[in-house]
Amino acid sequence: MFFDPSQKSPQSRRVPASPETSGRGDTVPVVHIVGAGPGDPELLTRKAWRLLQQAEVIVHDRLVSPAVLELAHPAARRIDVGKRPGGGGYRQEEINALLCHLAGQRRRVVRLKGGDPFVFGRGGEELAALRARGFAAEVVPGITAATAAAADAGIPLTHRGTATAVTLVTGHGESGDPDLDWARLASPQHTIALYMAVRRAPEVAARLMAEGLDADTPVAVVERASSPEQRCLHGTLGGLAALVREQRVRAPALIIIGAVADQAEAAAMAAPWAALAETRS
Ligand code: SAH
Repeated sequence: MFFDPSQKSPQSRRVPASPETSGRGDTVPVVHIVGAGPGDPELLTRKAWRLLQQAEVIVHDRLVSPAVLELAHPAARRIDVGKRPGGGGYRQEEINALLCHLAGQRRRVVRLKGGDPFVFGRGGEELAALRARGFAAEVVPGITAATAAAADAGIPLTHRGTATAVTLVTGHGESGDPDLDWARLASPQHTIALYMAVRRAPEVAARLMAEGLDADTPVAVVERASSPEQRCLHGTLGGLAALVREQRVRAPALIIIGAVADQAEAAAMAAPWAALAETRS
């Protein structure tokens, strides 16, 4: 039987046994690489929630929201690999080694990552590292920033007659400048969801315009999607650099480029509570 989180008593400090590791000891411990979604705990999957409650150790990133971490069992050990006691973050190889070490101790480990582990999350590297060492590992998908931001802003990433494709793109390559096929990205009827691009927004806009994308192409910038501090800004590709600068956009923010980001249409499709909040302020 699964541990039922609703039955948790504040006094019970021990993390309850899970089907993977309890019983006769003939089951294989599994490291779960879990998507924490964009921040709002209600956007977690039920599976992520259950695994969080059952984990003995949670290895998480800086981007995972405190509200999500609060759902973990109080006795679980939390390791923030986005921070290190002396400053800076853990290197990817160190995170891989830590996960293998914990798996070797037969701990119930949840590796909790913002959004989806397989979208700009290096989840593939962690999965490969664990499996190469003979550890069982499973991935639990999460809601990625692009879909969360799109939902908040009322922007459909694909839309009949307006956008027949969407591409998830990083604004940040391994050596700074992302190695992208700019000509293909600049094609019509196409939505670009740009991650990690607050700093590089001016270069990205310039490259797309150089490939022929109209300077009037609508853009939306969604900062801290799914959180109470969520902010959604609208503009055009030609004005993107100024928008980001003047509005002091800070990470994490997602930039949506394409006809679907048109402000008037997005306003009609945005969540009704967003409109309510605006009329109240
Ligand atoms: N695996 C994550 C992405 C990690 S890369 C996912 O699937 O969402 C980090 C980038 O994700 C940030 O720079 C930002 O572009 C985006 N991001 C993550 N959380 C966000 C949020 N709440 N609102 C807007 N963008 C977010």
